[in-house]
Amino acid sequence: MISGLDISEIKLNETNIKITVNPGVVIDLDRNLIEHLVKRFIRIEEKERDSMGRFLASFSKEDTSFPEIDSFIKEFINLTLEKAVSEGVPVIQKCLWPNNKEFAIALTHDVDRLRAGLKYNLSILIRLLKKGNMRLALRKLLDILTRINPWDLRIVMSIEEKYSAVSTFFFLIDGKSNYDVKKLDKKYLIRILKALKTNGFDIAFHSSFSSFEKIEEIMREKKLFESMLGERVIGVRQHYLRFNAYETLEFFEKAGFKYDSTLGFPDEIGFRAGTSFPFFPCLVNKKKISRILEIPLVIMDTAALKRYNGKINLIKERIFEALDIVKTNNSLITVLWHNNYFDKYTKLDFIELYEEILTYGTTNNAWLTSLRDIYDWWMKRLNAKIEWIKNDKRLKIAKINGFQNFCLRIVLPEKWNLQIGSNLIKGGQTLKQPIFNNQILEFVRS
Ligand SMILES: [Zn+2]
Repeated sequence: MISGLDISEIKLNETNIKITVNPGVVIDLDRNLIEHLVKRFIRIEEKERDSMGRFLASFSKEDTSFPEIDSFIKEFINLTLEKAVSEGVPVIQKCLWPNNKEFAIALTHDVDRLRAGLKYNLSILIRLLKKGNMRLALRKLLDILTRINPWDLRIVMSIEEKYSAVSTFFFLIDGKSNYDVKKLDKKYLIRILKALKTNGFDIAFHSSFSSFEKIEEIMREKKLFESMLGERVIGVRQHYLRFNAYETLEFFEKAGFKYDSTLGFPDEIGFRAGTSFPFFPCLVNKKKISRILEIPLVIMDTAALKRYNGKINLIKERIFEALDIVKTNNSLITVLWHNNYFDKYTKLDFIELYEEILTYGTTNNAWLTSLRDIYDWWMKRLNAKIEWIKNDKRLKIAKINGFQNFCLRIVLPEKWNLQIGSNLIKGGQTLKQPIFNNQILEFVRS
């Protein structure tokens, strides 16, 4: 499903599972391993909670430092392709990401507070004065006098623009607890929303501290936000990652959201669901599949800061370890950097680290993008149907629905050639082939 491989038959016995991949490659797998992975995949809700009501990485009984499901899928695909080649069967696979990208990095920002207050700004000024850093103190003073906001979202936008990237901003706009927004500057917010929209950024909703167990609160806040935004919002993440997966996801579905990105750890960089690919969670209590696409969160600035006591080298090591894994698996990694982590007076090391992540993405052919783009692409990819017309010597791909252009990875064994229009591709190679609607590919056995 994730790979785009077409599975035609699954046979179970006591110790093994035999999977037949179209058009006839049989793979034998260890049943215990598969059962473990399936249980891991469907069990996204855990009962334990910290004092803030959240599930922590330290509570997990699994090794969350790597996505074992994704690594298994990667191995499964490789095994299938190897077997296919040795048995002389051609295999086609939907490309995982558009434009020939190797993997994806989803960039996100929770905007808990739009603007730094005067009290905060003065405390930073005093800290700089105490440190004897007069030059920086003077600059901060000038910023205060000219009302420059150190958490301005345009700082984030301009950094990402350098890398031709876009991102998702989750806005907290209301709520009744001390952790929520006390007074909202509506005019300023509307101005910022317009700037983001004009520049192609994704605007999503950050539901308040206690709303995760109150659907009426989620609905009310969403409506209020949409009235300011002037359009429907499809993405959501819970503030403080407070979330009862099964129940809250149902609320999100009823409220009309399409994707969520809450499933992550507040205390560690890690793979909570054993996968970092988008997926539709199984709501075990209701025996149904959620219609909300979950895009798991893996890296969060505040979690990294606390877990590694602010030691930037340790944080960096752990983040790049996770990035390397995701790159190897050709999967996705979701990163969260709050807007106050772009404050040049207090978070210079985090700004540099964020840019290093973007540089890593650019040099390693990653798609640096928003969750909205990931959602749109993933849904199109899932719904892209390949029609086969089969006879003894030819296989035709007659149609790929729902796509203007699309890409296939094609494994062509020695004895098969591929005819695309007047172009003949010789067997014995693997290729990435752009496909257009209603294009016909003919696999011809020589
Ligand atoms: Zn938040």
